[in-house]
Amino acid sequence: MSPNQFAVTRRRFLSGLAVLGTAPWFGDLAAWPQDPPPFTGDNFDLAHQLLMDPAATLAAGAPQERPGLYDTIIVGGGISGLLSAYRLRDRRVKLLERDLVVGGVSKSASWQGIEYALGAAYILDPDPDSEDPRERAGFQLLEELGLRARTDDLERDRTLQRRVSGDGNHCIFSNRRIVPEAEVYSLRNRRFFEGVLESDRYPSVPPTDRALVDALDRVSLSAFLKNPALQRSLYGQTVGPLSRLGWEAIEYYCWGAFGTTAGETSAYHGLNFFVAESGGALVYPGGNAFIAKRLGARITRDNPAAIATGAWTLRVEREGGEFRVTTWEQGALYRYRARSVIVATPLFLAPTLIPSLPEAQRAAIATLQYRAYVVANVLLRRKADAIFRAQGLRAGYELTRVHGVDVATTPTRDLSSQKVYSDAIHADFVMGRHPSHAVLTVYRPYPCADGRQELLGASYADIEAEVRREVLAGFGPHGLRASDIEGVQLCRWGHPMIVARPGQMADGTMAAAGQSQPGLYFCHTDTMGAPAYENAFAAAHDAVAAVTGFLRV
Ligand SMILES: Cc1cc2nc3c(=O)[nH]c(=O)nc-3n(C[C@H](O)[C@H](O)[C@H](O)COP(=O)(O)OP(=O)(O)OC[C@H]3O[C@@H](n4cnc5c(N)ncnc54)[C@H](O)[C@@H]3O)c2cc1C
Repeated sequence: MSPNQFAVTRRRFLSGLAVLGTAPWFGDLAAWPQDPPPFTGDNFDLAHQLLMDPAATLAAGAPQERPGLYDTIIVGGGISGLLSAYRLRDRRVKLLERDLVVGGVSKSASWQGIEYALGAAYILDPDPDSEDPRERAGFQLLEELGLRARTDDLERDRTLQRRVSGDGNHCIFSNRRIVPEAEVYSLRNRRFFEGVLESDRYPSVPPTDRALVDALDRVSLSAFLKNPALQRSLYGQTVGPLSRLGWEAIEYYCWGAFGTTAGETSAYHGLNFFVAESGGALVYPGGNAFIAKRLGARITRDNPAAIATGAWTLRVEREGGEFRVTTWEQGALYRYRARSVIVATPLFLAPTLIPSLPEAQRAAIATLQYRAYVVANVLLRRKADAIFRAQGLRAGYELTRVHGVDVATTPTRDLSSQKVYSDAIHADFVMGRHPSHAVLTVYRPYPCADGRQELLGASYADIEAEVRREVLAGFGPHGLRASDIEGVQLCRWGHPMIVARPGQMADGTMAAAGQSQPGLYFCHTDTMGAPAYENAFAAAHDAVAAVTGFLRV
């Protein structure tokens, strides 16, 4: 999903502290949906019914009391909730996840033995010897989970169930040709981005340099890239002119990574993501779901009851010195008691879940915006090496499609519905090319404020048709035939990406929106202001530290 893969010698983990085993609740999403195929991902109807206004559901009767008092209840089983539960597994902990499968937007499914991502695809490969203690801790976690080792030969060993996508695995292409990276970014552009990554002013998340937040978060990524004075004042050099293709690739990078245009993305978060991409993406089969599954397996190994799936939390209420958490589980209401709660759901749900949330926090959360997303997995009847003529597309993991359009003058909405996707990945990258089939995971963001309405109004057939059209437009000239496509599996996400709006960190909105109180903590990638594994990791680290301190008292 990144447009740039230029070599750097060292890179930093983005932020925070923070990965196959199986258990029944991991579910098997592998069954190929029959006629008409349902969307996977968010269950819009049930979510809206239960969470927009839970009062009617709550009025149905008195909840049944679940026995015992938990040290901590964790609401939400995405990466951040799972990491929290993993770190707290020696405590009396319960994780309540609404879905039947944990992972949140980090889930996967499989077809013909190819595991493919339904959402998050990769993380940044953490350096075990980094100067940044958070990055070292990120490596240690993976090592502890058996998901990374210093001795790994990620270049050659295909038995490891992990691989790093480097320079040779990123292919930029158009509907006509493979586009050399030098046509997209000049040497000077690349030196600048490398310089930001290597500098002491790399915009880390969570931030450590207030002045840097003030300088970078108040402007958008595109405004920053057009402001040589600001670039020079912060980094002692300038990015220089960006080509039309460079602007286009950066625009699509923001679509894919943030669900926003470069003009809507805070330069702080934009640079935090973009420049770190050059360090190599660590990829597991099916993407970050692999990490979620491993976390789930480790949490339940010693405590099989630690995770409840199909448990929709409707209310978190403080009563006396305890919390009461009310859930809806298969049509019945239940109530849990806990000394502390970690809310690991997107922040926009907090006002509904927590009636006592302070007004200032409600007001801050009300200003947050979210973008919708579809991940389309295109199931192919031929192996990738038989389909694609160009070596770049055969060896590639991340495939970025550019058109040569002027993104500054083309309305995003028009471009989005014409283009549909700009990023795709080969699902069989990690294990080596499948001998007879392939899956292309195609990222279709809705980078407009009204994108969710568009998604809500679109049928499966509508979206499948536009994905087929554009996949054939983009990959057809490179060898893909309509007859190669066995089917398209569509995964819908309603509010998966918080908008990293310029100013949101600098003006205190994010801090106010994620404000914890004694015993009640917010832990989600949202609380860091932008969607990334590393941010979920950081959020979990902070929440676990806070809850551990609280429980000690
Ligand atoms: C399409 C897409 C692609 C992405 N790709 C990448 C990538 O390649 N690399 C990367 O680093 N990041 C990626 N991200 C960002 C991703 O958001 C983070 O990496 C990370 O997975 C977020 O984890 P989380 O736990 O913070 O949130 P979530 O995954 O949102 O988890 C929240 C959990 O809370 C549950 N929940 C919500 N409400 C309730 C309730 N009332 N009761 C009980 N449970 C509830 C949800 O079901 C969910 O499981 C991507 C995001 C999307 C949408």
